[in-house]
Amino acid sequence: MNENMYIVRDVLDKGRGMFATQDIKRGTCVISESPLVFVGSNILKNLQAINALSKKNKKSFFALSNIYTDDELPQEIGIIKTNALPLGKESNEAAAVYRVISRINHSCAPNVQHSWNSITQMEYIYAIKDITAGSEILTTYVAPLTTREARQKTLKKSFRFTCQCRFCAAASSEEHDATVTRINECSDLIVKFASSNPRKAIQCVREALALLDKIEVGGKATFCYDGFQINAMYSNYKLAKEWADLLLETYRFEEGETGHEYGRYLAYSIDAKAHEYAGRGRYVDLRGV
Ligand SMILES: [Zn+2]
Repeated sequence: MNENMYIVRDVLDKGRGMFATQDIKRGTCVISESPLVFVGSNILKNLQAINALSKKNKKSFFALSNIYTDDELPQEIGIIKTNALPLGKESNEAAAVYRVISRINHSCAPNVQHSWNSITQMEYIYAIKDITAGSEILTTYVAPLTTREARQKTLKKSFRFTCQCRFCAAASSEEHDATVTRINECSDLIVKFASSNPRKAIQCVREALALLDKIEVGGKATFCYDGFQINAMYSNYKLAKEWADLLLETYRFEEGETGHEYGRYLAYSIDAKAHEYAGRGRYVDLRGV
């Protein structure tokens, strides 16, 4: 285990938090952890699952923070609402609570990315930027590519705090909003142009990647995948291979070799024609885009 890479301790006004005990390089797995308990939308089932925990795990569970103490909710439900992480980005229903990972506080400018692996049944925390010893390890509780107003609204409603990260600070929020809005526009334009103007689509991929480099919130692998797919689709296999390599490297930094898609991306790096859309479009020269 990497127990020596972090420590969990009290943080002023934030309960407890996780801190780096050494310099951590981008792409490092800070911690991987099995859930203390799986939870879902069925309250009765959640209560039963908590009741069935071992004495030690029950103690860990009830030691977690609860921001819903003023509501007339059972303590268990308050703790779940405060600490549960969804199982994967697409999951609306299933979630899990962790002894350590649930202690990680929020920032819209996070230094780690969390991801669930359904094969190993563990949650992984990867450093998406270099972290210096003593810094707090912070993940994002909300979709990072949203505007300040949307993020603040979700954080207030679900977690009852006002984020004061650098992207929420009045001085920089406007510029950040413009950046995330443009990244989302690029995303839409990539879909729009992928079938009609692949050169334009690749330009949008590059623009989004450059903007993501500026704000460093992760999420680059998705765009690298677009770059790969478009090149493979229009039979630019040499370029597709370069994009697949970039995708693999980016993904490794964001979700590690334990990530869901790693094997699939590795296969594309070995043979770009392995993609189902490979060669589907009539050849378009995408060199120099
Ligand atoms: Zn913020």
